[in-house]
Amino acid sequence: MYELAVFGNPIGHSLSPSIHAQFAQQTGLKVNYAKILAPIDGFNQSVQQFIEKGANGFNVTVPFKLDAFNLATELTLNAKMAGAVNTIKIQKNKLIGENTDGLGLVNDLTQNLGLSLKGKKILILGAGGATQGIILPLLRQQPSQIMVANRTASKAEKLAHNFSQYGSVSGFGLDKIKSEPVDLIINATSASLDGNMPEIASGCADNAICYDLMYGKQTPFMDWAKNNNASIISDGLGMLVEQAASSFEFWTEKKPDTRSVIKKLRG
Ligand code: NDP
Repeated sequence: MYELAVFGNPIGHSLSPSIHAQFAQQTGLKVNYAKILAPIDGFNQSVQQFIEKGANGFNVTVPFKLDAFNLATELTLNAKMAGAVNTIKIQKNKLIGENTDGLGLVNDLTQNLGLSLKGKKILILGAGGATQGIILPLLRQQPSQIMVANRTASKAEKLAHNFSQYGSVSGFGLDKIKSEPVDLIINATSASLDGNMPEIASGCADNAICYDLMYGKQTPFMDWAKNNNASIISDGLGMLVEQAASSFEFWTEKKPDTRSVIKKLRG
């Protein structure tokens, strides 16, 4: 039996237990996947209690990804560069920290949407935790360049600098986005959560693939993409399922089928 869980606060809304139950059924593995509401200042203690019960691993969501990064005794390169951990595997006394968010996005883009990112021009809106987690996995797909545009320009510049050894990454303010088409625009701002869309030059969306990391509803970014001639428009539900699948594989070495799960969640 794999004893797994997701830690968060709040956690009631999490789709992870249902996703992992479907993965367990497909792979024939026995999995017990719990939802654990950890107190805001009590993440480490909650994890400790879970480990004492014989845990094999766990996911971490808002607001504990940085706590998990600090708690891990070993980090994958993905996790190191992301500066955050969403998956921990427990091996004897080791807590191995991984970040599967970026891998989840790349798998959704390449496998579910059937896109190739090689040689493509990618524009990322936002320079928060999610952006930091997706840059390295995106660079591994060998795009021609990644541009990070953020409301606070200095954060985008800093991120670009941190990743420059891995590929062509530039960073600037949202107001510096040119009205020239790019191949892929990823909305990694949290603006959609408040029903907002950053004001940016619209020409960049012409015939572009537009992907919002947010899921669960049609977002203002998706509406904007539709009004500005985007070729493909997607929310981040596929990313959610793919990052869960990468976590599942990290713990069990079994790769689940994601398409049927995405289909079921979309109803
Ligand atoms: P952060 O809080 O770390 O960063 C938020 C970013 O959004 C910052 O760059 C911020 O700019 C920008 N921003 C916020 N409001 C606005 C606005 N009104 N106009 C322009 N920019 C704005 O959030 P995360 O990076 O952790 O998450 C971003 C999004 O990604 C969330 O919607 C989250 O739900 C989603 N997500 C989805 C996942 C999935 O599996 N599908 C996985 C992980 C995240 P500034 O720096 O100027 O404040």
